[in-house]
Amino acid sequence: MKKYLKYIIAIIVIVLIITTLVILNINRNREKKQESNTTKVVTSFYPMYIIAENLIDGANNVELENMADVNVGCLHDYTLMTEDIKKVEEADIFISNGLGMESFIDKLIEANSNMKVIDSSKDIENAINSEEETNPHIWTSIDNYILQVQTIASGLKEYNPENKDIYEENEKAYVDELENLKNKFDGELNDLEGKKAVCLNEAFEYMGEELGVELLTVETDHEESTMSAEMLKNIIDIVKEENIDIIIIDKNDNKSNAETIANETGAKIYELNSGLTGNLDKDAYIKQMEENIDILKNTN
Ligand SMILES: [Zn+2]
Repeated sequence: MKKYLKYIIAIIVIVLIITTLVILNINRNREKKQESNTTKVVTSFYPMYIIAENLIDGANNVELENMADVNVGCLHDYTLMTEDIKKVEEADIFISNGLGMESFIDKLIEANSNMKVIDSSKDIENAINSEEETNPHIWTSIDNYILQVQTIASGLKEYNPENKDIYEENEKAYVDELENLKNKFDGELNDLEGKKAVCLNEAFEYMGEELGVELLTVETDHEESTMSAEMLKNIIDIVKEENIDIIIIDKNDNKSNAETIANETGAKIYELNSGLTGNLDKDAYIKQMEENIDILKNTN
């Protein structure tokens, strides 16, 4: 009997090991299955992330990730990185701003031809064109932003119907908040209508239009510092001739040119927030626009 005991113990140990391995494998497969059940949504950059975050809140089996680093800002001259492609390869849905902001979109589609792309600019009708280029910074107009929210919500409902009700509820709640914001914007900034301003950052062109402000916009691709001396002199002349007393820049811009114009003409600089970077709170866009309202209120 003692002779067999050794074998019996050995057999029991082997059976236990096999059973453990089988259980581990079952669990691993189960995890894999759960992973594949998750709908992965990738947004191109910060403003799209904030919209998606509001819409996806509470949705089941949905994972949201931003492609570019949130501090990158605008994507005009963005060079795709290996990590970006990796994120997109796993995506089921990709949310873009559109109007040429994501000039690299073809490369992303090439990397993952199965993913659905939601172009948030699809229903925008007031796109501003200049020199064969379309200004893609549509979200600085609250009305446009609301359209972007609605377009993205429709896309999510279509491509992830499992969470349709949640998307619908979130869309309604967010649009309600944005409409309140728009009312505040219109009400408090009413006096700006018809005024003239110099704008050294083209991101605010849409906001200016919404305000009814006549903007002399200088296309700088957010690089105000690259302005030539001749251009600067022209702007100063125009500001003097037209008695313009508002200079609009982004708070993250280099201020030197704006300061030169201000010193030469007595116009005042208003440092607004174009909503290109910031914290990841759901109310980030609303907070940024409220910040702008407070600053612009002081133009009177
Ligand atoms: Zn830009």
